[in-house]
Amino acid sequence: MNAKQPDLNAYWMPFTANRQFKESPRLLTKADGMYFTDDQGRQVLDGIAGLWCVNAGHNRPRIVRAIQEQAAELDFAPPFQMGHPKAFELASRLAEITPEGLNRVFFTNSGSEAVETALKIALAYHRARGEGHRTRLIGRERGYHGVNFGGMSVGGMVANRKMFGTLLSGVDHIRHTLDIQRNAFSVGLPAHGAELADDLERLVALHDASTIAAVIVEPIAGSAGVLLPPQGYLKRLREICDKHGILLIFDEVITGFGRTGQPFAAQTFGVTPDLMTVAKGLTNGCVPMGAVFARQSIHDTFMQGPAHLIELFHGYTYSAHPLACAAGLATLDTYADDQLLTRAGEMAGHFAEELHSLRNEPHVIDVRNFGLVGGVELTPRPGEPTKRAFSVFLDCWEQGVLVRTTGDIIALSPPLIASRDDLSRMVAAIRTALRRLA
Ligand code: PMP
Repeated sequence: MNAKQPDLNAYWMPFTANRQFKESPRLLTKADGMYFTDDQGRQVLDGIAGLWCVNAGHNRPRIVRAIQEQAAELDFAPPFQMGHPKAFELASRLAEITPEGLNRVFFTNSGSEAVETALKIALAYHRARGEGHRTRLIGRERGYHGVNFGGMSVGGMVANRKMFGTLLSGVDHIRHTLDIQRNAFSVGLPAHGAELADDLERLVALHDASTIAAVIVEPIAGSAGVLLPPQGYLKRLREICDKHGILLIFDEVITGFGRTGQPFAAQTFGVTPDLMTVAKGLTNGCVPMGAVFARQSIHDTFMQGPAHLIELFHGYTYSAHPLACAAGLATLDTYADDQLLTRAGEMAGHFAEELHSLRNEPHVIDVRNFGLVGGVELTPRPGEPTKRAFSVFLDCWEQGVLVRTTGDIIALSPPLIASRDDLSRMVAAIRTALRRLA
């Protein structure tokens, strides 16, 4: 054990098998560019942009400087009935790159908070228009929308829900879009399954459209294992929402800020939601921050009453925190300087080729990719305590490559600065691990 290792007992780690971890901890002490350094001084290639967030790579000087300078200049400003210039500046800069019409920005501190905020805006919007009977929220099986009560309720990852009882009432779920039988090893968006969007019509028939406020989906479901939207699926979902006056919310916490080859997946897939949640890449992971982008007409609905009244009774102490705003502005500059928001599109071909070269490796039953996000699904091993994918994760870590696993799926979401060699090395590590496992 490393002499400098801290006492590990007090820290209750999130989404971690604490006891197992503390027996053989993996501690990161530094990061630069594509690499972490661990407490043994080993370099570890970052295959997942930290946690789908460090899109511009680690330790970007412009962002670091902006945070340092901001801390010395204005460390905090109350966000209620007060403002500071960078909050307005960041919102305006974001509105320049959001999908058309989504030009109003509400700041939060995380993706989970962005989701809660979007759901609350949806409910309040309908009430403000005299449609307060629209209270039902629809999510999707295997969706992930953070861990707070709204997001957990509309979320569809069973393990994240089952410990916590009944959750919010008035929530329902449409079917997820993974269909390995029909779509295994599709390169890019799968051909089959647009009709799965019609599952929303089933819920409309069951509950009546007049009771439904909003539908929330990730354009690409990340945390559940990179589940891609079949070709035409999102467009169909948009059409059904329009037909029934239901708001469509895209959760772009993972897909936002360049992951799919455009600033947002909504643009890549040509479907514009009414509300959009982002976080992660918003500050390159440097300072916690999330946001909701709202269609201007939704925002303006709240602006009808007397001007001296608060329009939306919602917000956080750290909404639009000066450090986060400074980091966000410097992150946008960095993305622009290096043209990172479109780079995933340029690297997608090589990434797809590499990833799909795993198709004949042991245990691989599906490979999925889009832009710079990918998933490799392995045969399940029912009854065994450790999933194969987790063994691959551990082996890759030993090889000096950080990947992520969820269930039987290995996920990659490299920083958008990754070179072709970096991408090849990530896949090579997975290949080595799979062969050793076999
Ligand atoms: N929504 C999506 C789609 C996410 O992937 C995540 C986090 N992985 C969240 C929400 C929650 O974000 P946070 O962990 O910042 O609360």
